[in-house]
Amino acid sequence: MAAAFIDTARISVRAGKGGNGAVAFHREKYVAAGGPDGGDGGDGGSIVLVVDDNMSTLMDFRYKRKYVAENGMDGQGARRNGRAGKPLTIRVPRGTLVRDAETNEIIKDMSDAEPFVLCRGGRGGWGNSHFATPTRQVPRFAKAGLEGESHDVILELKLLADVGLIGFPNVGKSTLLSVVSKARPKIANYHFTTLFPNLGVVYVDEGVSFVMADIPGIIEGASEGAGLGHDFLRHIDRCRLLVHVVDVSGSEGRDPVADFDAINAELAQYSPQLATRPQLVVANKIDIMADESLLDALRAHVEPLGYPIFALSAASHTGTRELTLAIAEKLSTLPPVTVYEPEYVPRPPKIDASEPLEITVEDNTYIVSGKWLERLMSNINFSDYESRMYFDKMLRENGVFSQLEAMGIQDGDIVSMYNLEFEYQH
Ligand code: GDP
Ligand code: MG
Repeated sequence: MAAAFIDTARISVRAGKGGNGAVAFHREKYVAAGGPDGGDGGDGGSIVLVVDDNMSTLMDFRYKRKYVAENGMDGQGARRNGRAGKPLTIRVPRGTLVRDAETNEIIKDMSDAEPFVLCRGGRGGWGNSHFATPTRQVPRFAKAGLEGESHDVILELKLLADVGLIGFPNVGKSTLLSVVSKARPKIANYHFTTLFPNLGVVYVDEGVSFVMADIPGIIEGASEGAGLGHDFLRHIDRCRLLVHVVDVSGSEGRDPVADFDAINAELAQYSPQLATRPQLVVANKIDIMADESLLDALRAHVEPLGYPIFALSAASHTGTRELTLAIAEKLSTLPPVTVYEPEYVPRPPKIDASEPLEITVEDNTYIVSGKWLERLMSNINFSDYESRMYFDKMLRENGVFSQLEAMGIQDGDIVSMYNLEFEYQH
């Protein structure tokens, strides 16, 4: 048995750290004391996700689990700024949900063409050339770059298709897809199962088309211990319509009515919502049907339940056109494919403030630095009021202000913390 279809993965991503600002002074022959000219550090590279339609599984994430974007370079003298770190682009199949690994909340549904910035690179620190003021001619400090954001996420593939094919193995699902679209799924007799989802675009008429998906089967995986279980059903979660394929030829001794009920029972067990999704029934392989009573029995079973039934032969292309027209017509009455809204709310980082901060004073400027402060600051969105209040609270609770006061800070003195600088007000 081939390896199971990989449709979930857990990865760790980290954006690049910002480069440090430089402390440097301009030196020229006949100038006694040149001005400060330290350049800024470059910003760290971000982690960016993009959809790649050539991917249909999350297989690539099975072995590579850590993704780190490039750091920004440090600034240099002569106002030379450090180069920004390159963003790291991670390609994912269309329909990949990105979830927070801790809470499982959806961060992003990767279903459109827009690149998504998952982690922002750390800001580069300013060089000392920024810090010359009329009263501070010779700033001997620059700012360190900030850490990039990092995140542990779970990727989960939920295909984006209008129509999902369901049914027992070997009933002709892959054959049907290959006949109505340009998709070329593996068509095989028994023992082989579909381990990769296949998507095909079905062109019905000018301007009328839909996407049909053939997905790894339930029963085949489960019965052979491949461990697919109900997991594969997540791929039809967002299908607008299900096409339920049943073999009515009797050639393999299958009972179409029992098959139909068994698959629907699986659906209901996985999700009551999915069980009520609109279905069309395909009675396949009528070209080798020995006895029409199986078809009649299936028809008598499904029609009273409200399911339209199409008797056809996928392999000999008989009746497939009627089916695709009916699918297109049904789809035109159904709501569009679900796109999931983000649920994730970033939480304030857990900060262990036991390690003391380092505070140095220069020209009435109090320069504060330390690991936990840096970590806190790379997680604070300073354009958001609540986040700023939280930041203020953290400084207060961890005694930063009382420490500054003990050192003799006065109203109007400057407090400098990484890329933040503010006037102290009691
Ligand atoms: P799946 O497992 O449901 O995807 O089934 P496949 O499409 O792989 O088909 C299984 C077998 O049934 C293959 O040998 C196909 O050639 C055959 N098959 C599919 N559709 C028809 C049909 O309409 N008539 C006949 N005679 N054979 C078919
Ligand atoms: Mg198949």
